Amino acid sequence: MVGVTGGAPPRDAAELLARLNARQGRAVTFMEVCGTHTMAVARSGLRGLLPPSIRLISGPGCPVCVTPVGFIDHCLALAEKEEVMVTTFGDLMRVPGSVKEGDAGPVCTLSNAKALGARVTPVYSPLEALDIAKQEPDCEVVFLGVGFETTAPGLAATVLQAEREGVANFSMLVAAKTIPMALEVLATAEELALDGFLCPGHVSVILGEQVYHPLVETHGMSCAIAGFEPKEILLGICALVDQVDGALTRVENCYPGPVRPTGNPKALTVMNRVFEGCDSVWRGLGAIPRSGLRLRPEFRVYDAAQRFDVTLPRPVEPRGCRCGDVLRGVLDPKECGLFGKRCTPEDPQGACMVSQEGSCAARYLYLGGGDA
Ligand code: SF4
Repeated sequence: MVGVTGGAPPRDAAELLARLNARQGRAVTFMEVCGTHTMAVARSGLRGLLPPSIRLISGPGCPVCVTPVGFIDHCLALAEKEEVMVTTFGDLMRVPGSVKEGDAGPVCTLSNAKALGARVTPVYSPLEALDIAKQEPDCEVVFLGVGFETTAPGLAATVLQAEREGVANFSMLVAAKTIPMALEVLATAEELALDGFLCPGHVSVILGEQVYHPLVETHGMSCAIAGFEPKEILLGICALVDQVDGALTRVENCYPGPVRPTGNPKALTVMNRVFEGCDSVWRGLGAIPRSGLRLRPEFRVYDAAQRFDVTLPRPVEPRGCRCGDVLRGVLDPKECGLFGKRCTPEDPQGACMVSQEGSCAARYLYLGGGDA
């Protein structure tokens, strides 16, 4: 059988699209699980160019989006402490915390806390936060450690540097997550009936190909690792389609330059030196065993959750926000009642509209913010 990638090597994205549109196979559903893919697919309009028989849905690939509201509450509680300066990647600044009973004011975010006088500083890297700690020894500098395997090695390296340099006024509130177990949960979700995953490119650079083998062997999923250009994404989709049409399942690496079979051993060594696996709560997916990272006991002195006592409210999602359903892949952003009305990139009501990798922001920015 000649699949969509069969025959002469495709010259460009148009040729790959033509092959996909000429396909005669059964209807298939794939999920892309990388925020950068979500943005690239929206920017290029690829989803609308695929035939109706090939459905591509977005998953929980945006680290800011999957960080639960309870973590934002924890950040806000730390920001209220006089001795603390919270440092964070900029995206997290505008993610709403819990709605409080009778609260009719502006949503509670780190950005609003800063406007009211809290010390909250956006930074580009955890090392920048460590530098601030060295420059301000009388201040407790807390970095918000949110991200996937792409970010975790940098978090780990910063903790090791803080230890080496004896920086005692630096700590991290860690909510780092790991992708493989989340994919296993999605693979078994009957409501999605997935045929395969367009695996995340950046995470795969760190983890390699082998980490997806359980999805193939245990859950019968087709997997393809793809880059981020439209042609690279289409190559990944073609590889998935070929697997389904050929009744094959495997991990296909369509991004072989950056992604090696065993990933990046140096980054993994640093990450595993500082962090250990733990259960973790994902917005939309709930608690997933072994899907998070926490500091190993010998590094817990850098754990802001242990260093500072805080009282946290009961976590309550923003009213009317359907981010959880969007992240599970069961709701298109435009089906949320707030989309494009009360919720826009300028005035986001939920995490998926805040982040530059969020599905709602992608939908709004590139595919029309109204009823398009
Ligand atoms: S449109 Fe806004 S409120 Fe609705 S799910 Fe997306 S982020 Fe949440």
